[in-house]
Amino acid sequence: MAWIRQDRCQACGLCLSHCPREAIVRKDDLIAIDRNRCAGCLVCTEYCPTDAIRPQ
Ligand code: SF4
Ligand code: SF4
Repeated sequence: MAWIRQDRCQACGLCLSHCPREAIVRKDDLIAIDRNRCAGCLVCTEYCPTDAIRPQ
């Protein structure tokens, strides 16, 4: 499971395209991780330029 620190996220969308489970979604101006889809692989953390995605 991963979660996004909203105070760091710049909503660039880079992580969305790299998630193998399509678990990262854009809601209005926010990027969020769908807990029901996330497999906890943490691949997304390798692509975030602001280090906003954290393991839980
Ligand atoms: S941890 Fe893996 S499955 Fe979960 S949002 Fe990141 S890339 Fe997707
Ligand atoms: S890659 Fe990082 S800054 Fe960009 S949308 Fe994802 S969490 Fe936010």
